[in-house]
Amino acid sequence: MKSDLLSVCRSGVVVCDGAMGTQLMLRGLTPGECGMRWNEERAADVGAVHSAYAQAGCRLITTNSFGGTRTMLERHGLGDQVLNWNRKAAALARAAAGPDGWVFGDVGPFGDFLEPLGDTTEDQLLAIFSEQIGALVEGGADAILVETMSDPAEAAVGVRAAKSVSGLPVVVTYAFQKSADGFRTMMGTPVGDAIAAALEAGADIVGANCGTDLSLDDYAALAKELKAAAGSAPAILQPNAGAPKSTPEGVVYDATPEEMAAAALRLRDAGISIIGGCCGTTPAHLAAMAGALA
Ligand SMILES: [Zn+2]
Repeated sequence: MKSDLLSVCRSGVVVCDGAMGTQLMLRGLTPGECGMRWNEERAADVGAVHSAYAQAGCRLITTNSFGGTRTMLERHGLGDQVLNWNRKAAALARAAAGPDGWVFGDVGPFGDFLEPLGDTTEDQLLAIFSEQIGALVEGGADAILVETMSDPAEAAVGVRAAKSVSGLPVVVTYAFQKSADGFRTMMGTPVGDAIAAALEAGADIVGANCGTDLSLDDYAALAKELKAAAGSAPAILQPNAGAPKSTPEGVVYDATPEEMAAAALRLRDAGISIIGGCCGTTPAHLAAMAGALA
């Protein structure tokens, strides 16, 4: 019988997986193409990425469903696939995670702003998130990950949606950037306020992923702020593979597996309970991180 994720987080570090999008691009996904489509048409490739992370030592496998809300799929004219592709995304992750692993049902931003900046009401967003999350739960998710959030109000609606359709643990991660006033989301919210909003909405695990222009030193500093803001809740951090660098071929993240392994130890020492990777991380990075943390 698989242990309870929340109690495992309280007794030690759990390694979650790394980037999916860049791994699918290596397998032929083109920029702008709908990655959700691969859960059906290139299921073997999605499954192979999940399995590579599982073999690297990741016990938490994240579904390929970042752009899986109806609003995001409708941009590709594919809104009728919300239930089908989210169920398939969860089933693929479930198969790779194995009996002792957990599946994070992944929910990304819905792609617009809530009122008053945008036209979407909280009730509308609750329905959008609930539809996707319901399908992820049906497909076998063990927890819901509301990720890469900038607006605490959107994150809070994501938590409410997850709690309304399941009894699963809910995780919220924000993308922070560094400003003169410290770490803030793109919407300008400081770490303490962002995390407090997620906890108030009922999130069980809170933290950060991705980030704009953050170095591995920045992630170590962010880890301390997150831990302080999270209080008694477990904290999660999924850094990019170092700071982004501009090249003629585009932005690259080029921290080595050894550098990421050293960074993972600093996150652990800061009290982070779930450690994984975001942009630019690969199964090789996660294997080095899992090895260092073991
Ligand atoms: Zn990222």
